[in-house]
Amino acid sequence: MAKDQRFHVDLDEIRHRLLAERRELLARAVLSSGSSPLAPDERDSDDADAAVTTDMREHAMWLLQDHRQKLELIERTLQRLNDGSYGRCESCGGSISPERLEALPYATQCIACQQRAERQGRRLNRGYSSADR
Ligand SMILES: [Zn+2]
Repeated sequence: MAKDQRFHVDLDEIRHRLLAERRELLARAVLSSGSSPLAPDERDSDDADAAVTTDMREHAMWLLQDHRQKLELIERTLQRLNDGSYGRCESCGGSISPERLEALPYATQCIACQQRAERQGRRLNRGYSSADR
């Protein structure tokens, strides 16, 4: 197996972390939604109950949305690990520094491109969600 010598990130370790995080996110998504969103078993007995349920559901949806974005990132990163493009900047094709990958395993851009994208994103649309935690 040919290893890129400039690349000092332990890919197995990264993969491990991503898989663990994905599992945790999925578990939390299920927990935070109270019940599986696929099997809603609401007993809308009275209005107060229904209101609380709706509130919780909205909150859960919000969390799910947040989780889904992160899950997508993780999925994409795992795919990149598999096809060997991991650690390469999606924008300029340069390599992402190992320190950055350590801190942010699912980074898809080098710092320069990320910063440029954030500057542009901030200008165009403040809703741009950063991958930073
Ligand atoms: Zn770049």
